[in-house]
Amino acid sequence: MKLSRDIYLIGSGKLGFDWTHPADCNVYAVDTGEGLTLIDSGTGLSVDEMASNLAEHHCSMADVTHILLTHLHADHSGGAAEIARLTGAQVVLLDEAAPVLEAGDEAAIDLPQAKLAGFYPVDYNWTPCKAGIRLRDGEMFMIGRYSFSAMHTPGHSRYDTCYLMETANGRSVLFSGDTILYGGKISMLSTHDFSISALALSIERLAALEPEMLLPGHGQPALSRAAEHIRTASRIFGTLGIPPTIG
Ligand SMILES: [Zn+2]
Repeated sequence: MKLSRDIYLIGSGKLGFDWTHPADCNVYAVDTGEGLTLIDSGTGLSVDEMASNLAEHHCSMADVTHILLTHLHADHSGGAAEIARLTGAQVVLLDEAAPVLEAGDEAAIDLPQAKLAGFYPVDYNWTPCKAGIRLRDGEMFMIGRYSFSAMHTPGHSRYDTCYLMETANGRSVLFSGDTILYGGKISMLSTHDFSISALALSIERLAALEPEMLLPGHGQPALSRAAEHIRTASRIFGTLGIPPTIG
């Protein structure tokens, strides 16, 4: 699904477009001019489908050079190992999250509880994966014609990271993972590392940005006026309330 000149949605589960594996997050592909960069990887249970979705746009999974992870929950990071194995792509994530990914520490991402709750098949395993590029909060980097900056935005989980991507003409896109979703919704979980107060601070920080597009980890994207969605949640937190949650 083409969202803009260089951005495609190639995977999305039940909390989105119900298109690839039901548990998949939204998986985006950016044509950077020097290959493809994925934002998140899905569960890993529909890599072939995502490759077919890319092929419809005359793009190939083999051209993936980077996989940016917004956080470690298996619906976002579970496909990273397989896609990196197939393509040689570098996995990019927050420095502090790297040891957890490399160890495949399922307890650290509450995967046993999520399996019991029926979010994943009982025989699902989180495959450990080498961290290629480890980022600090605020770090900027270029991939092809795009610049990205990483923001550590904890709350939904400990290592959530949003990526602000800027084009040469000054337009920006926020890949927001599960930190902030369409309509100012959040994703509240009873997991060990969810923190509503940390999430409120993270969203306050994001509310200072002026992105044009909001491409979240679940649900529908906002292709314009993205900042309004962030500020809706920020306003609710400002009245000591809690924004509505998805799913
Ligand atoms: Zn999540």
